[in-house]
Amino acid sequence: MSADDSCIFCQIVQGKIPAKPVFETDTVFAFSDLSPQAPTHILAIHKRHSAQFAHSDDTLLAELFSGVRTLAETLELKDYRLVVNNGEQAGQSVFHLHVHVLSGRSFQWPPG
Ligand code: 5GP
Ligand code: ZN
Repeated sequence: MSADDSCIFCQIVQGKIPAKPVFETDTVFAFSDLSPQAPTHILAIHKRHSAQFAHSDDTLLAELFSGVRTLAETLELKDYRLVVNNGEQAGQSVFHLHVHVLSGRSFQWPPG
């Protein structure tokens, strides 16, 4: 898998930065968010580096979202919210595509 040495999520995949893993496949890695916004707040990433949703190839997106669905089934999450922040103004702070998987409380709509 290709990795960007300056990317903290690539370093988490490589075990160079500690994280609390909750789910893994051959292509997807998922771990607890450092600053949880819900009782369950998981970050799911593809092991291959891709900076953001808009620039990700179809194969990566399919594997990532398929992995997220398997994660939700495996962890028996009933209702959950998926969030992808694409770009700084949308709230993206880490430029390795990730899906926030939030569960365990009610969520408001529209989001802030
Ligand atoms: P974004 O704002 O890019 O959509 O989400 C980045 C998320 O990564 C944030 O929710 C933040 O709490 C989380 N995060 C940032 N650095 C780390 C880290 O080193 N470890 C973990 N587990 N989460 C992190
Ligand atoms: Zn990366």
